[in-house]
Amino acid sequence: MFDCRAEPRPATDPARQIRGVLFDLDGTLLDTLEDIAHATNRSLAAGGFPTHEVRAYRRFVGDGVRSLIRRALPEDQRDEGTITACLASFLDDYGRTWNVATRPYPGIPEALEALVARGLKLAILSNKPDELTCLCVRDLLPRWRFDEVRGQRDGVPRKPDPASALEISRALDLRPDEFLFVGDSPVDMETAVAAGMVPVGVLWGFRSEDELRTAGAWALLHHPMGLIDLLVRKPDAHRLVTRPSPRTGP
Ligand SMILES: [Mg+2]
Repeated sequence: MFDCRAEPRPATDPARQIRGVLFDLDGTLLDTLEDIAHATNRSLAAGGFPTHEVRAYRRFVGDGVRSLIRRALPEDQRDEGTITACLASFLDDYGRTWNVATRPYPGIPEALEALVARGLKLAILSNKPDELTCLCVRDLLPRWRFDEVRGQRDGVPRKPDPASALEISRALDLRPDEFLFVGDSPVDMETAVAAGMVPVGVLWGFRSEDELRTAGAWALLHHPMGLIDLLVRKPDAHRLVTRPSPRTGP
């Protein structure tokens, strides 16, 4: 089903020792872009500000909701008072409308199933507010046990600070280098590198292959089942990129 292209293998292969997978949420497990975009646009419009196309939000998300609102507001309207008011409006709206279009990406259920079957520990670390993160996981990913689910909490630094990733590592009693850190943004790759985890970039999310490579991705995946390729089918492959097979025959 997948054409796996591997570059020459280094002396040691980080994927050999993996016992846990730490996932980002938005753009990695769940396609949340539309609901975030529509809720933000309604908050902008309520304040009399211009709105954006859904695709523009690919560059607004990833650093927490306050950064989202700051980036969505016009450059000359980004004072703290305006951001705070627009953020309150967004949180009220999004808290009611977060699951209109949001769903797991195709292939995520199968990949989680396969990871659980292999006995790997699973966890989630998001820059989304903690309450919303837990709500999304509870309602849209209810079939799988995640040993830790953490969103943005007051007083705890956001990704790319590695503090929360390292706390999860300790809580699960695994070394950082026993984790794949799977995410769709440069912030995720930077967090993984800072925490000493193995950075795996996903290309079905919100950011580009070049950005993920530059931020330190060790592997790049075109499909969630590529995770299993990393762990099972090609255990000796370094910097493995999985792509859909080219069409053959008539
Ligand atoms: Mg993300």
